[in-house]
Amino acid sequence: METISNNQKDKQAEKACKYGCSKIIKWDLSQNAYIEVDTKQRHRCANWVPKKQQALNSFSHTISSEQLRYVDTVAPVLLEILSVVRNIEQLMQELNTETIEKKSEEQ
Ligand SMILES: [Zn+2]
Repeated sequence: METISNNQKDKQAEKACKYGCSKIIKWDLSQNAYIEVDTKQRHRCANWVPKKQQALNSFSHTISSEQLRYVDTVAPVLLEILSVVRNIEQLMQELNTETIEKKSEEQ
């Protein structure tokens, strides 16, 4: 029980925004959001990047422009292969259904 209230206190403490926008913020229980201590407004951080974007950013950091060119070339080919695989999957499924239908006819 004590840990929960301690956590709440920690959260409510004033602190610098972790995204490095230099704003001092604190957790506001009634708004269930971080508010800026000086303006008392809900903090919408300019430095905040959605998780999806973060993943994209780190992806483009890890691949070089050379690799990017490679991805550009390979991506359409991969898509083509994927669509062929999808077709095969569908054919297999149809084949399976036919087999099952034939089996049930035999019974
Ligand atoms: Zn911020």
